[in-house]
Amino acid sequence: MVEKIKKNLEEIKNDIKNIRGENSGVKVVCASKYTDGQGIVNIINAGIEYIGENRVQAMKDKREYLETLKLEEKIAWHFIGNLQKNKIKYIIDYVDLIQSVHEYSLLEELDKKASQKGRVLDVLLEVNISGEESKHGFEREELLNLGEKLVSFSSVRIKGLMTMAPNTEDLDIVRGTFRGLREFRDELNQKIFNGALTELSMGMSNDYRIALEEGATIIRIGTRLFN
Ligand SMILES: *Cc1c(COP(=O)(O)O)cnc(C)c1O
Repeated sequence: MVEKIKKNLEEIKNDIKNIRGENSGVKVVCASKYTDGQGIVNIINAGIEYIGENRVQAMKDKREYLETLKLEEKIAWHFIGNLQKNKIKYIIDYVDLIQSVHEYSLLEELDKKASQKGRVLDVLLEVNISGEESKHGFEREELLNLGEKLVSFSSVRIKGLMTMAPNTEDLDIVRGTFRGLREFRDELNQKIFNGALTELSMGMSNDYRIALEEGATIIRIGTRLFN
């Protein structure tokens, strides 16, 4: 299992090098919903440095399993799912990046909780670029209207944007979504953030190459690593 993940990771890193050159700094986040605590140990041994979990309970369980092996510091914990406010307390102590902040009231609550812990929490804003009803995330207009309120937090630091491509075979639509996220990041940087938005989390197993071509700094990979 470890050898297979290692080989898959090598291939992905090779794609990153071919598309973006050496030392691009692009992060490969392993989407860990497909695996358990022991699976995370395999992932670490295969050389993965970041994991992205969708569910609070699963992250908590996996983290506790790694603690028993003193391995919990070997990996950075990203949250990539739908975060409910009443569950923030279970991950606030150790989560490194919450990629999927999808509403303003969640930002406020994260700021409050992080401040109580005396820490600064890095987050990404999830944006619904494709405009699909089913997709989570801020609408572009909503963020532009929030304006300076987005840079008024003391304990939450917004580092960039995240999006999910629509579920389609049409690669032009996928590319358009990723390009749209990059252009919107640039617009927000200019109008509100003064260049502070450096991260673009976009691209999964089937479309990460396109995302890399469009400027992704973080790709979230599940099946392509495990299969
Ligand atoms: C599962 C998941 C991924 C990875 O999906 P794959 O297609 O298996 O690579 C990426 N991002 C999120 C939010 C996910 O839930």
